[in-house]
Amino acid sequence: MSTIREQIISLLGEEECDARFISQSLGISEKAVYDHMPHIIQTLSAQGKKLKINPASCVSCGFEFKDRRRPSKPSRCPRCKSERIDPPKFRLK
Ligand SMILES: [Zn+2]
Repeated sequence: MSTIREQIISLLGEEECDARFISQSLGISEKAVYDHMPHIIQTLSAQGKKLKINPASCVSCGFEFKDRRRPSKPSRCPRCKSERIDPPKFRLK
């Protein structure tokens, strides 16, 4: 029986995932996925592995949220104020 974090890590090793995909695959909320992420990043870096984060971007104008330190989904674009945000995607490298 593996923990949720181990299950997320194994999903990330198979393909690029966003929080929605992970939440649906494991039956947890998207918020829970984002809450686990900082711990997962820590665990991976302790193992010498790296999580590649494809930053969230604005669907309307293409703005990329590169400066966000927390791997969560922004609610609104600072440039065009659109709320159509493509969520960040994660992949184990
Ligand atoms: Zn925008």
